[in-house]
Amino acid sequence: MEDAIRNFVEQGEAYRWSGVETKTYNAAESQSRGMSKQILFEADENLPSELRYFESEPGGHSALERHHHVHAVLVLRGSGSVMLGDHVRRIRAFDTVYVPPDTWHQFYADADSYLGFLCLVNCDRDRPERASESDIAGLNQIAAIRDVIRF
Ligand code: MN
Repeated sequence: MEDAIRNFVEQGEAYRWSGVETKTYNAAESQSRGMSKQILFEADENLPSELRYFESEPGGHSALERHHHVHAVLVLRGSGSVMLGDHVRRIRAFDTVYVPPDTWHQFYADADSYLGFLCLVNCDRDRPERASESDIAGLNQIAAIRDVIRF
């Protein structure tokens, strides 16, 4: 089977896999910073899910979002933190994070470290909802996350 194995390559500081396209996000459109995505396993009829690798440059972060579908996350490199619902937790390589349905979440790389993580999702899933101004006003009421969230 062609493409059954894709070799890991370090491209400068970045973690990459041969033959896998890297998508970088436009900061203005995505409300994220320094993030890239590689789809390591695309969904097929035998396995209706996708395994993606997301990587944030030092100081970067993912979009603040929520959705009905869940994420099963395994941190592969670096350190940072994650906002989940109404709290923030430190994460580092090999930690796992389960993001439940309809839960605001955002991942942050430490200022001096990349943060890379695998994220498993169902192929049949809803589009993420970004935080509106009123959502942000509500999130800002929660002291534990007020100074952490970025948008
Ligand atoms: Mn998400």
